[in-house]
Amino acid sequence: MKKVGVYPGTFDPITFGHLDIIKRSLKVFDQVIVAVAPNPQKGPLFDIDERVSMIQEACRGEKHVQIEQFDGLLVEFAKRKGAIAVIRGLRAVSDFEYELQIALMNQQLDADVQTVFMMPSQEYTYLTSSIVKAVARYGGEIKPFVPEGVARKLKVKFKEGLL
Ligand code: ADP
Repeated sequence: MKKVGVYPGTFDPITFGHLDIIKRSLKVFDQVIVAVAPNPQKGPLFDIDERVSMIQEACRGEKHVQIEQFDGLLVEFAKRKGAIAVIRGLRAVSDFEYELQIALMNQQLDADVQTVFMMPSQEYTYLTSSIVKAVARYGGEIKPFVPEGVARKLKVKFKEGLL
């Protein structure tokens, strides 16, 4: 049976840290569904269609990666997709408490869905979408942290003077 994993997040925008987790997940799962949540409460810089299209561009050619939008309960989405696990990335210890809380709640909502944590390569341990946006906002070099297309879009966004 095909092992499907769901990797949920806001991906505002996708970084090399996220891509590192996707690559690692492909070694464990036959299919990885990147599930993009609108998360308006987080006040994302990019709208959901922009976030999805940046992930599509970054994952082009990866036939075992699927990108989808989802809203509502993650465990229900995972079940609908026939996923056996939810994938989350763990960077520093600071991620742990928040991730544990979500994993335990999801376990409570559906005991069948497991959460699998992946550690990124050390160079991405302190990489977050927020810090990339902060650097981009003030014109800093972001090429080492995000795919080319994302770097371009960030530059345009901040040039537009939107934020
Ligand atoms: P969320 O809003 O759900 O936290 P994010 O897009 O910020 O969404 O992150 C999605 C997942 O990817 C989370 O599990 C997060 O810990 C993980 N992640 C983000 N950046 C990295 C990174 N640099 N290395 C490893 N995991 C990461």
